[in-house]
Amino acid sequence: MIYLDYAATTPVCPEVAEAIQVALLENFGNPSSIHQLGKKAKQQLESARRRIATALGVNREAIYFTSGATEANNWAIRSQAYQARALGRGNRIICTTIEHPSVAEVCDVLQAEGFEIVYVNPTLEAFEEASNEQTIGWIAMAVNNEVGSQLPSAALGARAQERGIWFHVDAVQSVGRQAIDYPFTSLAVSGHKLYAPKGIGILVYQPWQKEMTLQPLVYGGGQERSKRSGTENTPYIAGLATAIELAVANRDTFIAQCEQLSRVLYDELTSAGIDYERNGDEQVPYIHNVWLKGQLASQTLIHMDLSNIYLSAGSACSAGSLVDSRILTAYYPDEPTRWRESIRLSFGRETTEHDIQLFVQQLKQLIERKQQLWHSHNKPN
Ligand code: PMP
Repeated sequence: MIYLDYAATTPVCPEVAEAIQVALLENFGNPSSIHQLGKKAKQQLESARRRIATALGVNREAIYFTSGATEANNWAIRSQAYQARALGRGNRIICTTIEHPSVAEVCDVLQAEGFEIVYVNPTLEAFEEASNEQTIGWIAMAVNNEVGSQLPSAALGARAQERGIWFHVDAVQSVGRQAIDYPFTSLAVSGHKLYAPKGIGILVYQPWQKEMTLQPLVYGGGQERSKRSGTENTPYIAGLATAIELAVANRDTFIAQCEQLSRVLYDELTSAGIDYERNGDEQVPYIHNVWLKGQLASQTLIHMDLSNIYLSAGSACSAGSLVDSRILTAYYPDEPTRWRESIRLSFGRETTEHDIQLFVQQLKQLIERKQQLWHSHNKPN
């Protein structure tokens, strides 16, 4: 098997599995219980929060554990939108055209509720131009999950802070690979892109002004400082702390490895004579969205799947089917052929040069076979 779909999800690494196992089998107490086992679980929970805060370089009090980034995105955006409107600051929000559905769909709902959402290209100029005195918040992901484009988070964050408006960052595809050393009020993290399990994530919430309090998401027993009640997922939280520490400690090595793999990928594609173009701009080295000219992505994916090579279409996969990608549509509005012929490869710690070589070999075979078929069908009788 060759797995080239790490932007979709990663496996759980052994260190993380081990941390989870200890919490599952030994340290299984309820952190709200007052006996020793409960206290031990509480200690482990707060130690995980501290370790994550240190690794990410944020305040411990800013961390709220969630079920993933979808929840964190929903929570942060809705809370800040409602709170700013309640404070009489306005109702206009600027958001990029290339956000993940867990952001874009929230914005659609807010729009239906009377907020004015303005969708713009991911540049500082576009955000400035779209903003007026009614503007309460800006939303821009750090790295796009489909094309790997790096957004100008530092410039956007600095300007949002100057303006005194909130700035939300979906950092799912950047945490553990880049520092989050820029200004933001809220930031979403997902465990399963970082070798932790699915179903665990973080909201980092650090408003510029104290009146921008985080609104409770779930009411009940008062966990997560009464903002998100429900018994904490202590095993996965322990696993997430280990996952984030490992990712941050190995960040430079991983980026260097991906840069080398990127060179191999494009060298191999070129020397195989494959007609391609890389989509997006300012791309990170671990996500590659490649237009394979003349090759329908659906066919490429089926062929690869049969050869046990797993990757994604450039188009988003929605409920198991291929639909035209909002992202490629935003980047290349007049190029439907490009949307349907693009595939996404994403690298992880386990990816090797050999994996890339085998992928290109398979691709070359597929293209040659299609050409042969085409010629035999079009032979004059
Ligand atoms: N944002 C981005 C950029 C993502 O890639 C993903 C996962 N595909 C999410 C949000 C959602 O994260 P989760 O699966 O943890 O809800």
